[in-house]
Amino acid sequence: LPTVVIAGRPNVGKSTLFNRLVGRRQALVADQPGVTRDRKEGEAMLRGRLVRLIDTAGLEEAAPDTLYGRMRASSESAVQQADLVLFCIDARAGITPADAHFASWLRRQNRKVILVANKAEGRSGAAAAMEAFSLGLGDPLALSAEHGDGIADLMGEIAESLPPMAEAEAAEAVEPVKGSARARARAAREAKGQPKTSVQPEPEVEVNFADILEGSTQADADDPMFAEFAEQAAFVEDETAVAGVLKIAFVGRPNAGKSTLLNRVLGEERMITGPEPGLTRDSIAVMVRDEHGEVQIVDTAGLRRKARIDERLEKMSTSATIEALKMAEVVVLVIDATLGLHEQDLQIARLIEREGRGCVLALNKWDAVEDRVATRKAIYDRLEISLTQMRGIEVVSFSATTGAGVNKLLPAVRRTAEIWNTRVSTGELNRWFDSALERHAPPLVSGRRLKLRYITQVKSRPPTFLIFGTRAEQLPDDYRRYLVNGLRESFGLDGVPIRLQLRGTK
Ligand code: GDP
Repeated sequence: LPTVVIAGRPNVGKSTLFNRLVGRRQALVADQPGVTRDRKEGEAMLRGRLVRLIDTAGLEEAAPDTLYGRMRASSESAVQQADLVLFCIDARAGITPADAHFASWLRRQNRKVILVANKAEGRSGAAAAMEAFSLGLGDPLALSAEHGDGIADLMGEIAESLPPMAEAEAAEAVEPVKGSARARARAAREAKGQPKTSVQPEPEVEVNFADILEGSTQADADDPMFAEFAEQAAFVEDETAVAGVLKIAFVGRPNAGKSTLLNRVLGEERMITGPEPGLTRDSIAVMVRDEHGEVQIVDTAGLRRKARIDERLEKMSTSATIEALKMAEVVVLVIDATLGLHEQDLQIARLIEREGRGCVLALNKWDAVEDRVATRKAIYDRLEISLTQMRGIEVVSFSATTGAGVNKLLPAVRRTAEIWNTRVSTGELNRWFDSALERHAPPLVSGRRLKLRYITQVKSRPPTFLIFGTRAEQLPDDYRRYLVNGLRESFGLDGVPIRLQLRGTK
C-alpha cells in the first residue's frame, strides 16, 4: 500500500486529521492482530485508493524531551518510508520557528509533501493559512480537521499525489498530444528541451525566516531548539552576504569618471585591502572603511583600462557591467553630468533593475556643469519618464577630480542598501493591501473580477512580495504597477527594484 505520513509539531491537530481521514475503517484495522493498537497507523480509503496512514503524533510521547527531539525522532523513520507526507501546521497559531525548522528539514528529505494548514475555519483562517506558503513546501491547503472543512479537497490531492497504480507502465507512458497545430508544435519544442514560451516560470520562493523569527512568541524563545533555529535562519537568510561588509560596484559608460571616483574614495576613506583581483578575471575589489563599517568596492574596467591607449575608443562592455552588478548589493551608476542622462545610461539602469540591485545615480563632473539647475531638472525629468521601475532613486552630484560632494556618496549608498534589505511584516502589509484594494478595486478580466486575498513578503534584497488570489496570475500590468507604486510609497522602498509574484488559488 502507498504510505502517507502525517507530520508536524505537536498540537497542530495531526491526530484529529488522522481520525478524520481514517474514518470508520480505523475500527476495523485496530481489531486485526499485529496492527498497533494505539492507532499510530491505519488504513484509509481515499477516492478509491486504499492507503496506509501513519500518524507521527502517536510516536511523539516516546521521544526525547525537547520539542525538536520529539519531532525529529518521531518523524525521521516514518518519513523515510513515506510515499507522501502531510505536513501540518496550525493556521491560527501562524508559522512558528518549530514549523519552519521542521519544514526546512522536510524539504531536504526529497519526499512528496502536501502542506496542510489545519484549524483554518472561516475566511480569516484561510488567509492565515496562506502565510504557510513561506515554508517553501508549495501551496498550503487550508482545512479544518475538526469541522471537516476541506477534507474532501485533501483526499483528492492525496489521491493525485500518490504514484499511479501501475507505476512502471505509467513511467513509460507518453501523453498523447491533442489539440491544435500550435499546441503540437509547442509540445514538440518542449520535448526537445526548448524553453516553453507561454508558461510563466514558477516564482522563486524563499523562506522568510526573518518574518518568522519576528513573529515568534516568548514561548518559542524559551524553547531549547529556538537558538539552534535562529542560528540556522541567520545562515539561510543570505548565503552571499559577508557579515558586515557592504558590497558595491561602480558602473557606467567609459569616461564617466569611475576610476577617478574610485581613487577619490580610496583617498578619503581608510583603505583596508586592495586593489586586488576581484571575483572575475576582469574585476578588482577594494575594501575601505567608512564610519559605519566596511565597504567592498568592485570595479570592472576602471583601473585596468587606465593602462590602455585606445581607452576612449572602447565600447561599453555589457558583460563586464553585468558581472559587477552580480557582485554588488548596491550599484553606483556613474554618469558624466556634462553630457546629461543618455540612453546608454538608462540601459545600464535597466540592467541594474533586472538584476534586482539597489541603485544610486552619481552625477559626476559637477564642477564642469554650467547650468546646474537646468541640468539637474533635465536629469530628473528623464528619470521620471524613463525609469519608473526604480522610482525614488537617490541622486548624488559631485566632482571626482576636486572631491567636492564625494562624501555624500557612501551615505546615499548605505540608505539604499537599507531599503534593499527592507522587511515588512505580514500584518502591516495586509492592512495596506486591504485599503489599496478598497481605494481601487482589481479590474475585470474577461468579464470576471479578480479576487486578491492576501500579500506576504517572501524575500528581501530586493523586496519581493507574493500575492494570492483567485486568478491572481492574470492581473493586468497597470494594476500590478498600481500595487508596486503603492508598496513603494507606503513602505518607503525608494530606488530599489520591487518584485511582485502572483499566485492563483482555488
Ligand atoms: P572611467 O572610464 O569611467 O573610469 O573614467 P575616468 O575616471 O578614466 O575619467 C575619464 C575622464 O574624465 C578623465 O579625463 C578624467 O580626468 C575626467 N574626469 C573624471 N571625473 C571628473 C570630474 O569630476 N570632473 C571633471 N571635470 N573631469 C573628470
